[in-house]
Amino acid sequence: MDWKKIKKIDAHIHILPEEKQLEFIKYQGEECTWAKADIETYINLMDEYNIDKAILQPTNDMYMYYPARKTNEFHAEIIKKYPNKFIAFADINANGSYIMDEAPYELEYAIKELGLHGLKLHPSNLAMDADDLRLVPVLRKAAELKVPVMYHSNPCMMGFHDNCAPDKINKMIMVFPDIQFITAHMGGMKYLDAWSGCTWVDISFVLPEFVELYGIEQTNRILRMFGAERLIFGTDYPEREYELYCSILDKMDFTEEEKRKIAYENINSILLMEK
Ligand SMILES: [Zn+2]
Repeated sequence: MDWKKIKKIDAHIHILPEEKQLEFIKYQGEECTWAKADIETYINLMDEYNIDKAILQPTNDMYMYYPARKTNEFHAEIIKKYPNKFIAFADINANGSYIMDEAPYELEYAIKELGLHGLKLHPSNLAMDADDLRLVPVLRKAAELKVPVMYHSNPCMMGFHDNCAPDKINKMIMVFPDIQFITAHMGGMKYLDAWSGCTWVDISFVLPEFVELYGIEQTNRILRMFGAERLIFGTDYPEREYELYCSILDKMDFTEEEKRKIAYENINSILLMEK
């Protein structure tokens, strides 16, 4: 079955609040990437590309979204409106030393009261290393709540690249064996460190970059090196298009069973480990 038709969970997408989307349009134009980050446009794509569910990921960036509580409530509203289509990971803020006290409670509120399903950590946007000890309290809370944690790991516009280095994510994976960690973007261009040091990886954003840099055959080898047991389908919509993702994945040599794992079963098994 080709990738357009196979049932998928997209583990990594972004839908913006309307006022934030309009700000992007105002400054970057009607055709800009984030002009497509609205729920109506996205739901049409879900039908067209057989996206059974999508995970709404925040970015720990209160200017792109809102402060964490409001961002989590924004995502909760979407889930309430479309309960079978969306899942959301919780946002936290980098508010100095308050992060140690507030983030665990914000996460607990998001999971227990708002019905969210995981935690998103974006170390560059938090302006701290992935293995910063100030993240320990919120990770202990994630372990207690039995929810998965997605770490951003790719070079980004703001902050320092090495905040998100897979080697730093690896340290938290080692000291929190009771958390399911997903390293986003396959560790970015530090994918070899993610391969040897991290557990689950999502293939969002970076797949077309690999193809551009290395070609189809080598990209296939990189995906094979991680293995279908560890790969999770994701695009980072609206930053990447489904048409392109499906056409690249159709050129890989995965078996039907492996495709099902990457497209759906791996992330589904992580979500089912919850309470
Ligand atoms: Zn993203």
